[in-house]
Amino acid sequence: MLDQLTAAVSTDVRDLLEGALSGKELTKEGAERLLGARGSDFHALIAAADLARQRDNGDDVSYVVCRNINFTNVCYVGCSFCGFARHRDEDEAFDRSHEEILLKCKDAVDRGATEVCIQGGIHPAKTHDTYRDILHAIKAVYPDLHIHAYSPEEMDFGHKKSGMELSDYLSWLVEAGLGTMPGTAAEILDDEIRDKLSPNKLKTERWVEIIKAAHGVGLRSTSTLMYGHIEEKRHVAAHLDLIREIQKETGGFTEFVPLGFIHERNLLYNLMGSRPGPSMDEDLRMVAVSRLFLRPHITNIQVSWVKMGHKLGQMALCAGANDFGGTLMEESISRESGSDHGENTPPEEFRRLIREIGRTPVERTTLYKTVQRFDDPALDPPSKEPEHLQKQLDLSGPTRWRAKVEKARAEVRAATA
Ligand code: SF4
Repeated sequence: MLDQLTAAVSTDVRDLLEGALSGKELTKEGAERLLGARGSDFHALIAAADLARQRDNGDDVSYVVCRNINFTNVCYVGCSFCGFARHRDEDEAFDRSHEEILLKCKDAVDRGATEVCIQGGIHPAKTHDTYRDILHAIKAVYPDLHIHAYSPEEMDFGHKKSGMELSDYLSWLVEAGLGTMPGTAAEILDDEIRDKLSPNKLKTERWVEIIKAAHGVGLRSTSTLMYGHIEEKRHVAAHLDLIREIQKETGGFTEFVPLGFIHERNLLYNLMGSRPGPSMDEDLRMVAVSRLFLRPHITNIQVSWVKMGHKLGQMALCAGANDFGGTLMEESISRESGSDHGENTPPEEFRRLIREIGRTPVERTTLYKTVQRFDDPALDPPSKEPEHLQKQLDLSGPTRWRAKVEKARAEVRAATA
């Protein structure tokens, strides 16, 4: 019976998967073929990527305790896929003071965060000093907090205002406390697509220039891709190839994060007629092909639970991904485009979700150093979430049940003492 299943896999797909598992680099054409895998080919792709993940990372699933802080949503770049940006005169426009940012950092640290992720819109009144001053303000109070900040679009803006050499500008930010950089603003690294998505945004060449310069001064970054809109498979394959080539040259990427397009509240879908984001099988193919294409150069493939939700995220972790991303605590960019998967996944929720699929939770730093493995659920620490957020946790989760059982036992002990 099982022989019939494997016999139904197309010969060329079988060759591509066997090649990728034996260490042969997938070509762009091979990636394009796998991105269209259906039926038995799809199932073979998912199984092969899961096996590759097991060989590359074992059965650990990592996550980072972090907080997003968007310091302003004022932005005039005009990306068609964005539901977050506001004109400065709109009621919902915000521009956070250092005091407000520090309050959010305090909340993050109180809840066990090792990282804050700071990004904002391209506010025309800001300068390069704005970015440096935020770093100084945070580091003065929280010297050990890792700051993961500023997309290549923000780096482009700040650098142009600074009048410095690019590498000097990036080093200047590192000296002020910048730890790593999000490899966002990548979308699809093909100017044919970028000119439609966002004609005012930095071009592919500039994105690559900034990322390589960052890696060159020791500032590591993530790498990302946004799919499920107007791109074709060939654009995705070429994007993966570019990321792999950069990684071979610099070794500076910490992970790759495929980001499904959220379509509900933006112009790209509602006015420009893009696809309404990826389908479930497209999400899984994207993760699986990322694993097989990027190994061994990038071996951390991250699930975006904000885009996928927890259950599809669990499936993606069985289709080649090994990292569940960050707790976030607050999330605006996907939510304002229509995502309804929440803004906060507490560490205890991550641990439950990871154990449900038979894997081991590991809290990590931004740079993938282990903070703590959680082999035994009985030894999990108590939640650091504020009481009002703990009440929102899934009551079926083992952490909450254990807390309830412990409370009931304590009450029985007290009553019988
Ligand atoms: S995606 Fe970023 S750069 Fe583009 S409009 Fe939104 S906030 Fe501005």
